[in-house]
Amino acid sequence: MARYDFATHRLFVSPPLGEGALVPLEAGQMNYLLNVLRMDEGAKLLVFNGRDGEWLAEIVKPTRKTAVLKLLQHMRVQTRPGVIRYAFAPLKVGRLDYMVQKAVEMGAARLAPVITQRTQQRNLKPDKLLANAVEAAEQCGILTLPEIEPEKRLDTFLAALGKEELLVFADEDADIADPVAALKAAGGRGAASITVLVGPEGGFTEEERRSILDHPALCRLSLGPRILRADTAAVAALALAQAVLGDWRSQNHLPDK
Ligand code: SAH
Repeated sequence: MARYDFATHRLFVSPPLGEGALVPLEAGQMNYLLNVLRMDEGAKLLVFNGRDGEWLAEIVKPTRKTAVLKLLQHMRVQTRPGVIRYAFAPLKVGRLDYMVQKAVEMGAARLAPVITQRTQQRNLKPDKLLANAVEAAEQCGILTLPEIEPEKRLDTFLAALGKEELLVFADEDADIADPVAALKAAGGRGAASITVLVGPEGGFTEEERRSILDHPALCRLSLGPRILRADTAAVAALALAQAVLGDWRSQNHLPDK
């Protein structure tokens, strides 16, 4: 990957970004930049909004306590979202925050919470999921935020899957086999969307497992001989999916245009 400027702080903003634009800051963002990071007039940072690529900006302070961002240079063009969709049974709050951030770092373009019989947390807070996704996106250099889907029960989630849509099912009961070969054999290269599914800490019930295994385009993926925590399995499964079928194989992100 071309050397990327990881030193300069990145900030996700909502307004449109364009040549010479002045971007207003929300109170929380202003407090973070001015008081937490103690940035001042003229300080540089990178901003992105998920639509207009990434821009180098500088802080302009019309008053002592307020700031806006003046866009200086278009640094990266907007890239297309990736193909990996991560479906997961929500975990307890702390682990869920961690798992969402790791899924974003691993390039999940869509996050699909799936409620199963042993799911530990129901009635998710979408704004909390989004806050974790924004934090991870600012840190890992991506230009888009993942789309966060509304939570679905497992049967609804499976029924909504396209018959040809590859479902990579991280299954601790699968025979231990070469996961790379399994993913290659499942096809999916060049697919528009590939869904990776990881279960709850208590695992899927036998009935749930049967309904998952009924999906016609399935890759039953063993993640080795040990039982992984769901958030560990998330990183392992997404790493394999990106390496074999996703964007770890391509040198640079394809521009949106
Ligand atoms: N049923 C497990 C607990 C589930 S582990 C037990 O016997 O304790 C949580 C989730 O992580 C599983 O639903 C599965 O999706 C994934 N997982 C954990 N270890 C795995 C492995 N070795 N191979 C594939 N998936 C695994």
